[in-house]
Amino acid sequence: MDYSVVWFKRDLRLHDHAALHAAAARGPLLCLYVVEPALWQAPDTARQHYEFILESLRELYRALRQLGGRLHLVTGDVVEVLDRLHAAAPFGALFAHEETGNGLTFQRDLAVGHWCRSHGVHWQEFPQFGVVRRLASRDAWQARWEALMAQPCLPTPQHLRFAPLPWPDTPPPAAAALGLAAHDPPHRQTGGRSHGLDVLHDFLGERSQQYRGGISSPLSAPTACSRLSPYLAFGCLSLREIVLAARFKSATLPASASRHKAGISAFISRLYWHCHFIQKLESEPELEFRNLHRGYDGMREADWNPRHFEALTAGRTGWPLVDACVVMLRETGWINFRMRAMLVSVAAYPLWLHWRPVGLWLARQFLDYEPGIHWSQMQMQSGTTGINVPRIYNPIKQARDHDPHGHFVRRWLPALRRVPDSWLFEPWRMPADLQARHGLQPGDIAEPPLDLEAATRAAKARLFALKAQPDIRAAKAAIVQKHGSRKRTPTTPSRGKKAASKNQMDLDF
Ligand SMILES: Cc1cc2nc3c(=O)[nH]c(=O)nc-3n(C[C@H](O)[C@H](O)[C@H](O)COP(=O)(O)OP(=O)(O)OC[C@H]3O[C@@H](n4cnc5c(N)ncnc54)[C@H](O)[C@@H]3O)c2cc1C
Repeated sequence: MDYSVVWFKRDLRLHDHAALHAAAARGPLLCLYVVEPALWQAPDTARQHYEFILESLRELYRALRQLGGRLHLVTGDVVEVLDRLHAAAPFGALFAHEETGNGLTFQRDLAVGHWCRSHGVHWQEFPQFGVVRRLASRDAWQARWEALMAQPCLPTPQHLRFAPLPWPDTPPPAAAALGLAAHDPPHRQTGGRSHGLDVLHDFLGERSQQYRGGISSPLSAPTACSRLSPYLAFGCLSLREIVLAARFKSATLPASASRHKAGISAFISRLYWHCHFIQKLESEPELEFRNLHRGYDGMREADWNPRHFEALTAGRTGWPLVDACVVMLRETGWINFRMRAMLVSVAAYPLWLHWRPVGLWLARQFLDYEPGIHWSQMQMQSGTTGINVPRIYNPIKQARDHDPHGHFVRRWLPALRRVPDSWLFEPWRMPADLQARHGLQPGDIAEPPLDLEAATRAAKARLFALKAQPDIRAAKAAIVQKHGSRKRTPTTPSRGKKAASKNQMDLDF
């Protein structure tokens, strides 16, 4: 019997699933998920990703059972699995979604393509985001994104014919058997489409009213942000279904709900950024490993300071907001955009750490690790893209602005509950006798490894000296041409022609 294989990857749903539709139109199909031990050895993976995937697979399994079929989980190298399957029960087509993953999945997909060609298997991949494979120019990118998002979602197919797996099913390996470290954030989000849908409805119905104005402070962000990122990263929900649901919600709100509508509009612009950033990695896979602007090569590499890295990752930099974010990540697998940017800024400037090891550590901390967004953002916040104005956040100022009463830092750093308000932002400056009087033990309060202001000044000087070099300035144009957003933003007539033309190409990405 000829049949098709639907290979599930980071698209763990049946709704709006183009690969499933294509396979269903062709005839019987076999639904396959491959647990790839080689990928789980990579330094950007963590147990929380694996557990979230397993939770999502359980729901996918149940959804397929309701349609009379099964999801088959096989462990191994994908090419070997396909080879074994084809030898036991030959199939004519393989369908999947395009994945803009890390270097390993990129190489793996090339190998799968090669295997399909040499075995006469039709291999077709479908975009699931507004990311364009083999993009020739960024010029029409936004129009393509809009066109894709304007199309209706593909419904879950109801009448499927299933082909059996030609060997007995086996359960997926435990995380430990894949060599994954034991830690799984106890308060992370749970995987699965039904959880993703609950989060979506809760956000659009209520929480999106707080989106504008609520997403920067780490206090309000956990509820003001959508919290959809892991469901997008592992494809429990489709990007298009979220965009369409958000647009529908906004259109059905009364005109008087202006704050709510503004929140949804700002949220949709983030969904556009999602694809905009992934497109960068799709167009330039090297940016996972190398500076986007090669003129910055060598800027930090030789200065790696393990003591700084250890202080950062242990949540012991002494800067309370930084350390509280690290602890929150450890407990929940999530922090908001502003705090991610601040963490990377502290790592890249005062601590002068190269973005690659910091990015690997953060990839393991973020439940929503999405390589295209992650590595583009890591470089952007570290000043190595050459096209962004470097944003250097002072963690003490950020704490004063976003957590003035210390609610956030005291929640995640219990020792700070004993520190009086007047010492909250720089607790290491508290005299020892005062610390003792407040019941603090030696070691409760971490001491920063360096002077923040002096180190930031020195970092800025190094970065701007490089930035000013003629060859580095000259190389910028090509990067802008390849990666810069052409998104049109509203222009303000009073700011004149110059400002208007500058606004037309928002290079802040
Ligand atoms: C250094 C750094 C690393 C990051 N790594 C990741 C990552 O691995 N995975 C990830 O999904 N996001 C990443 N982000 C972007 C952003 O911080 C998260 O998307 C956001 O915090 C997720 O929470 P949310 O879903 O509630 O966001 P919301 O604000 O509700 O946004 C909705 C969705 O839009 C997208 N989005 C939001 N902000 C951005 C942005 N700045 N750039 C691109 N897409 C965005 C995400 O898909 C997000 O789920 C990173 C940001 C920084 C500064």
